[in-house]
Amino acid sequence: MAGEAQASFRRAAELNKVPICAVPDKAGAELKGAVMITRRAECSCGQLSAVCSGEIVRISVCHCLDCKRRTGSAFSYNVRFKEGDVSIQGRAADFTRIGEQGGRVSYSFCPDCGTTVHYRIDTQPGVIAIPVGAFADPSFPPPFQSFYHDSRRCEWVEISAEPLAKIG
Ligand SMILES: [Zn+2]
Ligand SMILES: [Zn+2]
Repeated sequence: MAGEAQASFRRAAELNKVPICAVPDKAGAELKGAVMITRRAECSCGQLSAVCSGEIVRISVCHCLDCKRRTGSAFSYNVRFKEGDVSIQGRAADFTRIGEQGGRVSYSFCPDCGTTVHYRIDTQPGVIAIPVGAFADPSFPPPFQSFYHDSRRCEWVEISAEPLAKIG
C-alpha cells in the first residue's frame, strides 16, 4: 500500500474532520506509519532521550540471538526514523557488535541506567533505530516486518500484526 491509499485516507480524514492520528486498527501498519506524530523515547532514569517526528521508515521485530541478549526478552521491537527526524539529548555510552550477517550495529545506551535508547546499523546510513519499548506506549503502531522469524523465534511467540513480512 502506498501513496495512493494514504492520500485517499487523508482526504477522507479531512472530509470527516477526523484527526489523522485516529486511524482505525484495520487500516494497516503502513498507513499508521505515515502519520506525523512527535514521540519521545527515553531511558529508565530519563537522562537520555530521543524525540522523533516525521515519517516512520520501518517498524520491525527481530528474534535473533543478539536481540534476545540485548533486550533480555524473547525478541526486540524497533522503529527506524530518518536521522534528521530524531533529536537526541543526554549522555550516551556506545557498544558496537557485529550482527549475524556481518553488519556493524552501534548501540547507544544511558551510562547511568543502561537502557539502549537509539542505535545505528552501518548498512542503513541516514537512519536511526529506536527500541520501541523506550516510548513506553502500548498504542505504538505494530511491526511490518519480523526478522529471524522462522529460524530464531521462540516457538511460543506469535506476532499477529497484519500485514507482516516474515524474513529469515
Ligand atoms: Zn538512564
Ligand atoms: Zn536481532
